[in-house]
This record gives sequence, C-alpha cells and structure tokens, in this order.
Amino acid sequence: MFDEPLPKHADVRKLASREASFVAKLDVTHLPRIDNIVLDGVQFVAIDLQFAIDDQRVKTIQGKINARLQVECQRCMEPVAIDVHSDVNLAIVWDEEQAKKLRRDCDPLIVGEDELVNLNEVVEDELLLSVPFVSYHDPADCKGTQNYESLDPSSADKPAVEEETTNPFSVLASLKSGK
Ligand SMILES: [Zn+2]
Repeated sequence: MFDEPLPKHADVRKLASREASFVAKLDVTHLPRIDNIVLDGVQFVAIDLQFAIDDQRVKTIQGKINARLQVECQRCMEPVAIDVHSDVNLAIVWDEEQAKKLRRDCDPLIVGEDELVNLNEVVEDELLLSVPFVSYHDPADCKGTQNYESLDPSSADKPAVEEETTNPFSVLASLKSGK
C-alpha cells in the first residue's frame, strides 16, 4: 500500500461502485509534473481518497492530498519547505452537459465510456492547483532578505509585498475591476 503508484488504468466508476479507497504515500517520482518543480531528494505526497456514490447517484472521488515539498526560495535560492494541501471533491461525469448540472461544491472529472483514468494524473492536477507560483522563506529565516536590504536599502521597506504583486490572480482581479 505504501510507496506504490496509484493505478494508472483505473475504471473509476467500478471503483466508486465498490466504494474503494486509497491511502498511500507516493514518492514524487510517480508524479512527474510535481517532481519537475521540487528540488532533488526523496519527497512524499500523502493521499487519502475515497470512491463512492452519493445520494444523487453521482459517482464521486473525495479525499485529501497533503505534501511537504522542498522548493527553491525565489529570494535566496536556498531550499525552502512548503506545506501543500488539497481537498479533493470530484464527481465522475460522462460529458460537459452532465458537468454543468453538478452541484457547485464539486468539480467534474469527465470520463467517457470504457475510458480508464490514471489516478496519479488526477492527484497531480489537484495538487498543482495548490502549489504556489513562487515560494519564499519567512523573511526572518531568509538569507536573501538580509542581502537584499544591505544591497538595496531603498526597497528594504517592501520585500513582503513581492508575493502579492507576482500573484497572477491579483493581476487578473485588477484587470477585471479596472474596466
Ligand atoms: Zn530564502
């Protein structure tokens, strides 16, 4: 059960019918898109997924994904550990039409007839949504903060604002509100 990849060719509707569950600790090497953004070294992603059929007869995948990942601090370029958490709340649907009719609190996973799903990719998709675009140490722990301040005292009063200005969603929000 531990350190094994999830099924790569899963019949997710069958898993839901028999209320399967997966509790696993995956090595990030099984999740190449996550592996690409973390630093070298053994790192794990904890998975707790339950398949079920809800009271509307919709087949669902629910659970949690947790990981502590080592990435590069974008201020000092030293490793920084980030905790990433994702709540999974997926409904297995046949097509876009059915997806539109879903309750708002779940996301569609569109799976055609006889289509098999790579559960590692599902986990990656969910987890990637929760990984920040850029990561930093706390200013007090970051070697870059001290260097930054001593090299450029004029901007020492605003390093903490950096994370917000580089957030693509705040840019999007300001575009929307600025019309
Ligand atoms: Zn740093």
